[in-house]
Amino acid sequence: MRMTDIILKKRGGAALTADEIAFFISGFTHGDIPDYQAAALLMAIWFRGMDAAETAILTDRMAKSGDMVDLSPISGIKVDKHSTGGVGDKTSLIIGPVVAACGVPVAKMSGRGLGHTGGTVDKLESIPGLQTAVSEQRFFDIVKQTGLAIIGQSGDIAPADKKLYALRDVTGTIDNLSLIASSIMSKKLAAGADAILLDVKTGSGAFMKTPADSIALAQAMVEIGNRNGRKTMALITDMDRPLGFAVGNSLEVAEAVQTLRGQGPADLTAVCVELAAHMLLLAGKGDLEACRAMTQRVIASGAAFERLVAMAQAQGGDVSVLNDLGRFPAAPVIGTLPAARTGYITRMDTEACGMASVALGAGRAKKEDDIDHTAGLLLLKKPGDYVHAGEELAQLHTSRRDKLPAAAELLRSAIVIGDVPPAKGKLIYARVSEQGVEQL
Ligand code: URA
Repeated sequence: MRMTDIILKKRGGAALTADEIAFFISGFTHGDIPDYQAAALLMAIWFRGMDAAETAILTDRMAKSGDMVDLSPISGIKVDKHSTGGVGDKTSLIIGPVVAACGVPVAKMSGRGLGHTGGTVDKLESIPGLQTAVSEQRFFDIVKQTGLAIIGQSGDIAPADKKLYALRDVTGTIDNLSLIASSIMSKKLAAGADAILLDVKTGSGAFMKTPADSIALAQAMVEIGNRNGRKTMALITDMDRPLGFAVGNSLEVAEAVQTLRGQGPADLTAVCVELAAHMLLLAGKGDLEACRAMTQRVIASGAAFERLVAMAQAQGGDVSVLNDLGRFPAAPVIGTLPAARTGYITRMDTEACGMASVALGAGRAKKEDDIDHTAGLLLLKKPGDYVHAGEELAQLHTSRRDKLPAAAELLRSAIVIGDVPPAKGKLIYARVSEQGVEQL
């Protein structure tokens, strides 16, 4: 088989066979196929696309290019959740404990922050002492002991994706549906869960900015999951405003704790209940109504919060900060952003809110940068709220006073105040499953 023929075949618009895709992924991962040929094929795919069968095979080969986590030592149906990334998206910290408290084991590998979006691993590491780099054996032991563990990606997960993503990033081939879907799903397939719930965000803070694009991505990923033997569903959820009020690592953990205690923001609570209920549905715990009720019960009883504490303790964290949020390490500098005029908040550019949080120290400009776990935003107002000139719109938390002006400027430009209240947006737009798309 010759790589040149594969490039020509795709350039001509034909579907590649399983053998051709396997030849490409294996050769590229092992360095036998050079970057220039891989780049040519990626560009041909970008122009010609891949059908559902090709995309599912590509994903399978990418997943199998490295370690495939075997979760079979943990009994029961293991359900994973993946978010395409957002601002203030601390749902994993809430849903994980909720689902575990309902008797479904959660063995989850999460990522770090990327660009304007936060990452669950960074958030968890704001709990003093908590370890996210643990051996596979310890990972399994914690899940068996507490029903739940959330750790960083360990081992050699989908190395083909790592190489391909780096190449796509510099060859103008990131934004192709098959390539995005296979990239995300290769890591999920390798992570070993039996079922996968995808939270595909939509709006100004999301990777996909419109519901139509988000649904298309969800359909591609749901098809990949199901074709590869994992029960997969997706919810399309709003990211046209930050989720909850807190953006930034320790601030988000505190808000997750409040939500697990039944005192969280309404939007965050509602999204978490729906996501957790769908994970329970995938685990076969009952119909959606029963799963919603189960979710609400374990929040009200405190059982879900206890799971978070048990997991944090097992991963070496100082859980006194969870039991008493007043003890959580806090930023030494807190600035505020006043409203420039009186009126309704009509819009929040959510990506810019994320960038403001990063500018305060909550994220990284480069991969090697340290992050300030206490940095971030505490929004005091959200779209739809009426504000008076000079009223505080948000607090800006940081360890470095010199970071305040640039972050405040970013946030100021992100928040639009007008005379007419905005239309009430949806929290959940659609559900995508094997059966198709249901607009909600
Ligand atoms: N996230 C990924 O992991 N891969 C993509 O291609 C895009 C977003």
